[in-house]
Amino acid sequence: MAESSIPAQADSPEAQRYNRIRRWLGIADFVIGFVFLVVLLATRWSDALRDLAYRLGFQNYSFALFVYVFLLLGINKVLSVSLEYYGFRLERRFKLSNQRFTSWAWDEVKGFLVGLVLGSIVVELLYFTIRHWPEYWWMLAWALFMGLFILMAQLAPVILFPIFYKFEPLEDEDLRRRLVVLSEHAGTRVRGVYRWRLSEKSKKANAALTGLGATRRIILADTLLDNYSHDEIEAVLAHELGHQVHRHILKSIFVQAAITLVGFWAANWALHYAADHQLFDFSGLSDFANLPLLALVSVVLSFLLMPVLNAYSRYNERQADRYAFESIASIEPFVSSMNKLAEQNLAERSPSKWVEWFFHSHPSISRRLAAAEAWSRMQGAHPQV
Ligand SMILES: [Zn+2]
Repeated sequence: MAESSIPAQADSPEAQRYNRIRRWLGIADFVIGFVFLVVLLATRWSDALRDLAYRLGFQNYSFALFVYVFLLLGINKVLSVSLEYYGFRLERRFKLSNQRFTSWAWDEVKGFLVGLVLGSIVVELLYFTIRHWPEYWWMLAWALFMGLFILMAQLAPVILFPIFYKFEPLEDEDLRRRLVVLSEHAGTRVRGVYRWRLSEKSKKANAALTGLGATRRIILADTLLDNYSHDEIEAVLAHELGHQVHRHILKSIFVQAAITLVGFWAANWALHYAADHQLFDFSGLSDFANLPLLALVSVVLSFLLMPVLNAYSRYNERQADRYAFESIASIEPFVSSMNKLAEQNLAERSPSKWVEWFFHSHPSISRRLAAAEAWSRMQGAHPQV
């Protein structure tokens, strides 16, 4: 087999600048959210918000709780919207998007409403368990939360994603046939492949395996379908199929379940600690003015676990890549699709080690290409029998 030569391309200053700004935006967003929660608790503004929520919510607990969540999310949105607007401008500045302002603003409104609906359901369930089973609420809340999480994983491709994007079944006969061959080789069945109309909002290319059970599907962005050769798209499909063969969605749900259980336990501990030491003026566990404390536990835990979860995700990505190498006739289209993706998405091919370790859910392009090359060399050295 001819050895593919992969020039070690350095990142352009443009790609470096774009990714650096994106990272700082993410950090700033996290800090704003964190400080907001701390300030709410430290200044007792959370108590004031709760009192206001009761007045607006006709002194009814559940309704007041909904109003409180609305106020909290609303203020948080006001605090973070300028950063999000900056992010929108950034994509346009680097020619990665031609989304119009009105479309972006409408997405923001929809995102807020979706967050409000999902957030309210979770919080109402949470305080329902706290009120009725103050001893064991965290275990019950965890079970309910995981049930909701699995339901959402199942419904997301049919209910959530279509709120923001249009999807249509892939009609390309040649690609469909290739997918059938790949699936048969994998001994698995994909229930659908969909064309994801990403081009209305971004020039970046993307693909993913989503859903659970009957909604399990591969989605391919039109920005990918329209600009990549069939061999390259097949390489991308093979990677997504690798996620399915290795049951990555199911495994991620188990990981999520374990982390969430620890999270609920820690939240319960924090509530009791605050009550025992009279840190705040909460009138018992079910006083929802303590919600920022629960949110703080979840934010801190997510922050601490981010490198671990990203490492786990990178491990899965490497597995899916390896699966792709084994399934396609040659690694050339994999290599060229990676190079195209890097260029199109202005990705950093070789981010610094700590950036990759902390922030990246995927191995860097340079590592993925090196792995492909190493795999291909090994095949050349030991031809398959
Ligand atoms: Zn992947």
